[in-house]
Order: sequence, then C-alpha cells, then structure tokens
Amino acid sequence: MSYRTIAVVGAGFSGSLLAAQIARRSAKARVLLIERSGVFGRGLAYGTTCPAHLLNVRSGRMSAFPDDPGHFVDWLKANRPEFADPQGFAPRMIYGDYVQAILAAAGDGVERITGEVVRVEPTTAGVSLLLADGTALEADYAVLAIGNPPPDDAGGKGLGDSERYFADPWAPGQLDRVGERDDVLLLGAGLTMIDVVLALVEQGWKGRALALSRRGLLPRPHDPVQAVTVARQPEASDLLGMMREVRTRMREVGWAEAMDEIRPFNQLAWRSATEAERGRFLRHLRPWWDVHRHRTASEVGQRISDLVDKARLRVAAGRILMVEPVDDGLMIEWRPRGEARARNETFGWMVNCTGPLSDLARSKDRLLSAMFEDGVARVDGASLGLDVEPDCRVQDRDGDPHSRLFAMGPPTKSAFWEVVAVPEIRVQAKEIAERVLD
Ligand SMILES: Cc1cc2nc3c(=O)[nH]c(=O)nc-3n(C[C@H](O)[C@H](O)[C@H](O)COP(=O)(O)OP(=O)(O)OC[C@H]3O[C@@H](n4cnc5c(N)ncnc54)[C@H](O)[C@@H]3O)c2cc1C
Repeated sequence: MSYRTIAVVGAGFSGSLLAAQIARRSAKARVLLIERSGVFGRGLAYGTTCPAHLLNVRSGRMSAFPDDPGHFVDWLKANRPEFADPQGFAPRMIYGDYVQAILAAAGDGVERITGEVVRVEPTTAGVSLLLADGTALEADYAVLAIGNPPPDDAGGKGLGDSERYFADPWAPGQLDRVGERDDVLLLGAGLTMIDVVLALVEQGWKGRALALSRRGLLPRPHDPVQAVTVARQPEASDLLGMMREVRTRMREVGWAEAMDEIRPFNQLAWRSATEAERGRFLRHLRPWWDVHRHRTASEVGQRISDLVDKARLRVAAGRILMVEPVDDGLMIEWRPRGEARARNETFGWMVNCTGPLSDLARSKDRLLSAMFEDGVARVDGASLGLDVEPDCRVQDRDGDPHSRLFAMGPPTKSAFWEVVAVPEIRVQAKEIAERVLD
C-alpha cells in the first residue's frame, strides 16, 4: 500500500482538525502533526486553564465538522452535560478537551511530533521540513496551521524586560504576581483585555484597571438567546457598499442581526474587493467591525459591565505618551482622545492586550522569517497574512502558487478575511483535506 504523507505544522484547532479530517477520509494517508509547544489539540484559544474564559460563539455553532452541526453539543451531552445547552457558551478549556478527543479518535494515522518547524522547502516531489533540533522531514504535502503571531510590542514604549510590563498577555503564571489591590493598565480594550480582566478577577484580584485603546470601544456581548437569523444577500456587490448597507440595516433590525445575516457573504465580498477597497475598510471600518463581529458571551458582557459600574474597570480612548518606572509600579503619561491635556497616573502593572501582530513581515517568528527570506512565501498587499490562492495554496515571492504547500486559519485572513473562528476554519479543514487527498 502506498502512503501519502501530509505534514501539518501546528496543532491548535486548525491543524488538529485538518489531521482528523484527513484520518477520517483515508486509511492510506499518514499525517505528521508537528507542534512546538508539546500540547496537541488546544492552541492559544483552548489552552486556557481559566474557567471564566468562555467561548464567544454559542455551543450550537461550535461543531468541529460542518456536515455534523450537532457534534459538539452531542459530545457535551455525553461528557459534560452541565454545559450542553446549544444556546450557551461553554468554557474554552472544555472545548480544548473536545478537540483533543477528536484528535485521539483519529488514531494511528496521525503521528505527533513535538518540535518547531523552522524552514519549509517545496520541491517538485513534495515539501522538505526542517525542525529546530536539526531533524529533517519529507512529506508529499505540507499545510501551515501556525495561528496568529504573538502580540505587537509597540505599546510597551521601550519598556523591554521591565518586570512590571507583561508584553505577552498569554505567558503562563505571570498574572499571579499582580497583588490583590494593585491597579493595572491594560493596553487595548478588545477580547484579550477581557480575558486578562476575567483571569485577574478569578484569582481574587480586587484592584482597579484602566483599559486604554485608540477608540475605547468594547466588544459587544451576544444576546442571552440568539434570534433566528435568515441569511440576506446584500444588494451591493462591493465591500464598502455592503458595509453601508449593514449600517442601514442596523437601524432597521439591530446591529446583531444586521451582522449575522450577511455573514455567509463576507468571504465573497472580501475576495472580490480591490486592494484599495480592502485598505479603506481596514483603515476606517475595522475597529467598528471587530467589536460588533467578535462578540463576548452574554454572561461575560454582564461581568464586564458590572466591573465598569463599580468603577473597577474604566475604558478610555487615548494614547500613551510616556511610561516611566517608579517605586512599585509605572507612571503613565497618557492623552485622552480629543483632549489637549495629558494625564499622569501610576499603575502597579501594565499588560499588553493589543492583540496579535497583524503585519507578518514584522514577525520575529523563525519559520515566517525563513520563508520570506527564501522567497517561499510573501505577505499580502494589505499586510494581513500570507498571500494564498482561493484553494489555500501558498504563493511564493513572485505570486506563483506552490502545488504542495498550503496554509489555513488566521494566516489566510488576507484572502478570506473571515476565517479566524471555528465556523469558518472547520470548512477550510474539510476542503484542504479533500485537496491533499485528491
Ligand atoms: C483567546 C482566543 C479566544 C478565541 N475564542 C474563540 C471562540 O470562542 N470561538 C471561535 O470560533 N473562535 C475563537 N477564537 C478564534 C481562534 O483563533 C480559532 O478558533 C482557532 O483556535 C485558531 O486555531 P489555529 O490552530 O489556527 O491557531 P492557534 O490556536 O494559534 O494554533 C497554532 C499552533 O501552531 C503552533 N505553531 C506555530 N508555529 C509553529 C512552528 N513553526 N512549528 C511548530 N508548531 C508551530 C503553535 O504552538 C500553536 O499551538 C479565539 C481566539 C483566541 C486567540
């Protein structure tokens, strides 16, 4: 029997699901699933150990398999019945258990390799991969499921390795150092900020926090019960026209429904937009889009507004001008948006919650740097991710697609825009599995 070998780089949701899809489809395929952290099936989102970190998509929409929409809820009924409400938002760590169970069920067809891929080299017969420890691997196909790069550190104002500044909000254990009554400055007001606040509250923190971002917009919460939404094809065929229509629809049916009814058409609108239109969307509409589109669980929204009501969390639009280490903390000079006068405030700690670095060209990731240097890949025109074909094949330095190298999940945002959450990634996993086995 001749085996086809597929190397999958990264074992978060994307890589794990792809491996499972391949194993489900063919007993003649061998998947090399390569993960640098040594933890398979969780990735950044589902690797949290904080029970207050909930999914931000209802359980009823979180099946890993597009052709079996009830799969996650059925798994919950069998394994964690207390969370089996399809309208509910289960803890993210339980979703990680679910992905790990799917991976375990994929069986021997998936070989787990702990290591960091630092180079990929497409050849005419396949793809060669090099791991950081010097191991070389050969595969017929390779798929990059490497997730988002770590956050941009620009907000740190050169704080570098100050022990009072947490440049990576996800680094395990660091929040333990925040004292019960310490005040915290959170750079950014999006979903990462909310995760950090919830983790602090979970550990018994009773201090106060200022969440500072350019616009001071908080992610909107989901309604406790989802309305039944019928997909509605927008009349406009261009991205910006479609956004104008959404704003009009918001006044008619509310923002949540207006966003939900166009979701099936988002990828298409993005794909047909010109580079200039994409640029205008990103410059002017992205912050607005992000807070409406990427919502929090309703109970998370409630916890955040309780903290705001109690003045334990302030959310402000503004910009940091200067940060200076002082005794037991950091003195921050910041200017509220639209005001001429700056303010000085002292915080015990500062946490970078600005979200993943969006321009991959500035990433220090060894694999990405090697791929750009070797001309194996290039960054797309809007600097959102890798330049990929509609079928997810990676384009080289000249824009020519490799035949055997694919990418999926967040690095393909450039081509699809809406491809960072489970409902879209699961479709990508199924389609790429079909392509590499075809
Ligand atoms: C905090 C958070 C919460 C989220 N919540 C939800 C939610 O509730 N619902 C939803 O639908 N979506 C959610 N998302 C979106 C989420 O991005 C996707 O659901 C999905 O988890 C993305 O998975 P991924 O495998 O592409 O990336 P990741 O989870 O980042 O996994 C990438 C993996 O690749 C590994 N890796 C990277 N480079 C290499 C290399 N060179 N060699 C070897 N291994 C490598 C990394 O170690 C990592 O494990 C959330 C995202 C975040 C960040």
